[in-house]
Amino acid sequence: MNDFILVINSGSSSLKFAVLAKRGQDVILEGIAQRLGSSNASIDFKFNKIKESHLLEIGSHQGALTRIKSWFDQHPDVTQNLIGIGHRVVHGGETFSRSVIIDDNAIIEIEACSSLAPLHNPANVKGIKACHTLFPTLPQVAVFDTAFHQSLQQVQYLYPIPMHFYREQTLRKYGFHGTSYRYISQALGHLDRKTLLQGIIVAHLGNGASVCAIQNAESVDTSMGLTPLDGLMMGTRSGSIDPMILSFMAKSEEKSLDECLNILNKESGLLGISELSNDCRTLEDAMKAGDERAKLALDMFCSHTAKNIASCATSLNSFDQLVFTGGIGENSVYVRSQVCKSLAILGIKLDQQANTNLTRGQANLISKESAEQSVWVIPTNEELMIALDTINLIQN
Ligand code: ADP
Repeated sequence: MNDFILVINSGSSSLKFAVLAKRGQDVILEGIAQRLGSSNASIDFKFNKIKESHLLEIGSHQGALTRIKSWFDQHPDVTQNLIGIGHRVVHGGETFSRSVIIDDNAIIEIEACSSLAPLHNPANVKGIKACHTLFPTLPQVAVFDTAFHQSLQQVQYLYPIPMHFYREQTLRKYGFHGTSYRYISQALGHLDRKTLLQGIIVAHLGNGASVCAIQNAESVDTSMGLTPLDGLMMGTRSGSIDPMILSFMAKSEEKSLDECLNILNKESGLLGISELSNDCRTLEDAMKAGDERAKLALDMFCSHTAKNIASCATSLNSFDQLVFTGGIGENSVYVRSQVCKSLAILGIKLDQQANTNLTRGQANLISKESAEQSVWVIPTNEELMIALDTINLIQN
């Protein structure tokens, strides 16, 4: 069946790609171009379980996509089935509340959202424009991280700052990880249809981490804000802090605002507290070996996650389902256990044995039967959502 979709996730210095088939169920090709913008940019392809790596002669987004195009030229059996390209786009502002076919106007609108995501949207646009040149006959679709949260009410998305900042600059909460939340909401709906009318909290815990409250399959609250720096503590991001800290940091170390923000984005979170790593696995190993600071960092992460879940739960009509996803949410027995311990006050009861003995790659129920809420671990699949949105839009 001709339904192969090329999925592109174009970041500031990397470009992930995949070809999905059978309505996104089969992964035909996957790969990543890394260190773009440097002299040692490289690209990896994984096809038929075989991995190959190449240095990129031109280490730009265009260079990476040109190399991907020549891979397709060498694999006509794959190329002849390709019907479209789906792009992950980080920020859709208030303009995009769903995925769209990319035309000239959409590119202008995505570029206009760059002021809200200066590191991400320009890279996304570079990927889109390069694909337009290299694959001129293939329709392209943009899938936005922010779109799922456009259902938030004003009472949730406004910051309590003077209104003209919202009116003139559209400064507000947008929320991210929306494609993951939409996937989880649908996956839960397939497992149990009644969840489509229930109150759900999803904790997407990876290097970037956020939580989302979903009521009747719509986002009603989320922890990330104008940017992905807001909300809970993350791998290297501080999450929400007292804004006055910026002023003290700037004065005490004579730093510019941008330098201080860099500290909050790149040197804080698990890394900042542990002074060891931003990686949950590394910290768990260190904690088991007796490193007190690794334990402190992890326990803070769990506490922040639980607090953000409890906060988001106030936007639900009822709290019926809790789902863990993302690299940490899907894999860390310790984090899930600590988060659920803090949420006992809301009725959460974890089945420790189920939490420890998960079957990988599928949905697992890890709450006690007697509990008010079901607690799940569900692997997320953003690429699948991008492929499905692309197919649905180009075939309509
Ligand atoms: P990103 O936000 O970059 O997409 P991921 O969702 O890939 O992040 O999650 C990366 C995080 O998942 C890392 O902190 C990593 O240590 C953690 N992780 C992956 N596997 C495990 C595991 N088995 N145990 C604990 N943490 C894990």
